[in-house]
Amino acid sequence: MPPTQPAGIVYLIGAGPGDPGLITVRGIERLKQADVVVYDRLANHSLLAHARQAELIDVGKQPDRHPVPQAEINALLVEKARAGRVVARLKGGDPFVFGRGGEEALALMEAGLPFEIVPGITSAIAGPAYAGVPVTHRGMAYSFAVITGHRASDAEDVSYNWEYLAKGPDTILFLMGVSNLEYIATQLVAYGRSPDTPVALVERASRTAQKTVSGTLADIVERAADIGPPAIIIIGEVVSLRESLRWFDRPERHPLLGLRVLNTRPLAQAGEFSRRLMELGAEVVELPTTEIGPVADSGPLDDAIHRLPTWDWLIFASANSVSFFIDRLLELGRDVRSLTGVRLVVLGQATAATLRQYGLAADFIPTRQTSRDLPAEIGDVAGRRILLPRSNVPLAGLAEGLRAQGALVESVEAYTVRPVEPDPVALSALVDGGIDVLTFVSPSAVTALAAMLNGRLGETLPAPPVAICLGPATIEAARAAGMQVAAIPKRHTVDGLLAALVGWYAKVRT
Ligand code: SAH
Repeated sequence: MPPTQPAGIVYLIGAGPGDPGLITVRGIERLKQADVVVYDRLANHSLLAHARQAELIDVGKQPDRHPVPQAEINALLVEKARAGRVVARLKGGDPFVFGRGGEEALALMEAGLPFEIVPGITSAIAGPAYAGVPVTHRGMAYSFAVITGHRASDAEDVSYNWEYLAKGPDTILFLMGVSNLEYIATQLVAYGRSPDTPVALVERASRTAQKTVSGTLADIVERAADIGPPAIIIIGEVVSLRESLRWFDRPERHPLLGLRVLNTRPLAQAGEFSRRLMELGAEVVELPTTEIGPVADSGPLDDAIHRLPTWDWLIFASANSVSFFIDRLLELGRDVRSLTGVRLVVLGQATAATLRQYGLAADFIPTRQTSRDLPAEIGDVAGRRILLPRSNVPLAGLAEGLRAQGALVESVEAYTVRPVEPDPVALSALVDGGIDVLTFVSPSAVTALAAMLNGRLGETLPAPPVAICLGPATIEAARAAGMQVAAIPKRHTVDGLLAALVGWYAKVRT
């Protein structure tokens, strides 16, 4: 018997209006299972991180910048599913609200292929919500209509019942209507809607670049001159509630709103940093530049661990040095009692916190958190035997400084930092000018990013972004790579970096 073809399937997934947190739990589950992801312009590309192993196909933009024709998309879905692949078809908002999801499902049905619909949060409702406008409201609006504005022009005005629209639904939501705004407003007034009816346009709703303008049917065309697609047009009394209910776009709530930030941390640590940035309102693109892992040959590390009683001091310069060192110690069948009698010095509160997770308190945390300043702060080290578990990248000035003070210092590689292949989606966001600020927490991330861009930062990028770095060594590396350092953190911690970013943006945003 010939082997049976594994069954393919297509998941038609709604990605939500833009904020990557607004996809459903089922949507993420299906993305993770996908062999192929076929995605659009409107689906937030950071969602693709859930499908790192999958083949990614962008049908929102061809090299000539035209979208792929619908018939070709249908054929692509059929072809991939027929070949036994699990396909995630990721669409902005909800797949069945002006998403042509129905057509794709019909094509699959006709081809005899299974599909599943994963509804999404449509921008028609979430867009107004992010502007502080409920689409219904007791005493104000008991109905709403969602309409395409695509054909609302003199030339194509075939399918609209303007009389019904003007008098029927309390709230009217136009999608794809920005370029026909003038025609829409004129028709509604001509058919009897009051020219004083409140109107708002919400561009890029739920994204950090969200922009909202409001007015009335009489003056919205003038007021919305700077609004471009994708945007929702909201028409109706409910728009007046924005004044009280506005929440997302208040700067005190989201001080980094409007800022696109590149997160260069290694994948394993990127998530937490991205979450902090997004909480502040930033749009984050993750471009891990390095990868952290155990050393290839653990011989020297094991030897240093076996000689633990001979060390007077251990200096941990990073959370990674703590966890790789102690994890190895545990793997060797020992436990933290082996550290009895050894003084533990750590650089930075994050490193101290990692040490505490192993039940160990630091004996000394210098006030200045840089490896270069440590020797001056540490006191008398003459004749002390000091072990520095670190990565393959040397710590600027530390061992030399301690030796100059008479210490016997040995460095040992506890973990390695390696450059990784750039994620093509994130790299193209950077190269296309889609990033305002680069963030770096280590010099190795700077060097790795500069290498990804062939060292030609200023030339490669249309508007060179500025950099914000955690500590002095990283700042030095960024300057050496030709980057402009925007602000210098007062404390060399993630909190300090974020505070510097917020302070800088408050000054430059207009
Ligand atoms: N299926 C999508 C709609 C696709 S049609 C959904 O359910 O949301 C594309 C139109 O959707 C755009 O022209 C715009 O009117 C609207 N749109 C999608 N995302 C948007 C966003 N983040 N902000 C404002 N409008 C958006």
